[in-house]
Amino acid sequence: MTKTIPITRSLRMTRVPLLFLLILVSPHLLGQTKVKPGFNLFSPAQDVEIGEKSAEEIEQKLPIIEEPSVQDYIGQIGRRLGEVIQGPDFPYQFKVTNLSDINAFALPGGFMYINRGLIEAASTEAELAGVMAHEMAHVALRHGTNQASKAYLAQAGFGILGGLFGGNTSTGQVVEAVGGFGLNAVFLKFSRSAEEQADIVGAQTLVKAGYDPVAMADFFEMMRAQSGRDPGKFEQFFSTHPAPANRARRIEEEARLLGGPRPVSPVGDLEKIQRELGRLPEAPSMQEAMQKGDEPSDTRSKGDTSTGVGQAPDLGQIEPPSSQLKLFESRNGVFRIRYPENWTPTPADDGFGVTIVPDGGVVALDSGERSVVYGMIVGDFDPSASQSDEGRSGQEPFSRNDQLGQASNSFLRGLTTNNSYLKLLRTSEDIILDGAEALSATLEGRSPVTDQQETVVVFTRALLNDQLIFLIFVAPTRQYSELLNPLRRILSSLSVYDQAMNNR
Ligand SMILES: [Zn+2]
Repeated sequence: MTKTIPITRSLRMTRVPLLFLLILVSPHLLGQTKVKPGFNLFSPAQDVEIGEKSAEEIEQKLPIIEEPSVQDYIGQIGRRLGEVIQGPDFPYQFKVTNLSDINAFALPGGFMYINRGLIEAASTEAELAGVMAHEMAHVALRHGTNQASKAYLAQAGFGILGGLFGGNTSTGQVVEAVGGFGLNAVFLKFSRSAEEQADIVGAQTLVKAGYDPVAMADFFEMMRAQSGRDPGKFEQFFSTHPAPANRARRIEEEARLLGGPRPVSPVGDLEKIQRELGRLPEAPSMQEAMQKGDEPSDTRSKGDTSTGVGQAPDLGQIEPPSSQLKLFESRNGVFRIRYPENWTPTPADDGFGVTIVPDGGVVALDSGERSVVYGMIVGDFDPSASQSDEGRSGQEPFSRNDQLGQASNSFLRGLTTNNSYLKLLRTSEDIILDGAEALSATLEGRSPVTDQQETVVVFTRALLNDQLIFLIFVAPTRQYSELLNPLRRILSSLSVYDQAMNNR
């Protein structure tokens, strides 16, 4: 592997949600629990793109019920919920699948499928709306692409030596890297904490739409109780939506916080719809339908992941760093740092990171990826989004076991896993960066891009929100000494404004 990363908005938290919540909370709903979505590499528009492509694949395999009365009924409930749900303005759409399992699922961007089995099992419209609101909450909170982002970082992650450039990679490339479009579990299978969030936002949505969220709790409870008797029918739902602890109590509590719904009349006649469904040909289970469909979708190619190495740059051409420094300020105001004036900063899309290099400091590879061979990268790292603990073995680079030590170890582990040519040379644990403790590690190895010995120095410093700010300096080893002087001055110019993390 070379030190590259195809998508580079990277390693950050999404800061948008707070704004949405504040706007959508009407005065009588101030009691509601605020739910904050996790970090996301994708934009809401990319959620829609992913949902659309996946829907196209799925609908080739799953039987869709076209009956206008059924479509209409579900569509009207969905519209009522869609008008009040928080989050990006997704084009929610609802289709009914002729499947017997008691299940519903939602793709990123708002493409929702409600199984016939679910509609037939509901005893009130509010119960049906409850499951729909829960699914829509996963969409609104962008849980699917949050998970895909985590999976992507775990896999491609720490290729940050490619620099934190703006989006130079298509949605498709990233999605292929985490398993592809269609019924991809990365987008559809949620964690328990995501479940709890979906219950809460689902309950809030139901109240605002005039449905009683206790009906959602009751329906989940009924499903849980019956799943012992007829596991097959519920397997899909509970394997993708693991029930959080005290689910019913949590939903009821949220309903109380909201002061309960102002009930509206149902949009239609559930029993009539159920009778119409009863007249249709028998519904297969999801499993049966999928077996009839094409082969499983994970045989697709992963795209061109070969690391076509571009021409080795003539590193002799890179000018030494100027002793004059200029100021860079991150767009979100979290940090400021100076850099040699003959280098050029490229801010990352996330508003946090930046890659600053001299002419010739970045090599474009045949694969379209980029690799920093000379220069610096500053970014933030969220250890909770990293799954690199799995590969953990033996000695850790840093001995201290506090938040800074653990997060820094996790960061370095990822870096060396994905840039395996780099070997740890030494560490230092007594560094101060802008008044706070920081750690440093020096790594070396023969770069597969330049075919020359390369030195990489990493600095990590804690931010208030359990994340790290990291600084990485890269240079060919034989030129590293010319970087030493500016490096000291660059480091001492760093100012971090933790409070700005909350303003995003
Ligand atoms: Zn769920």
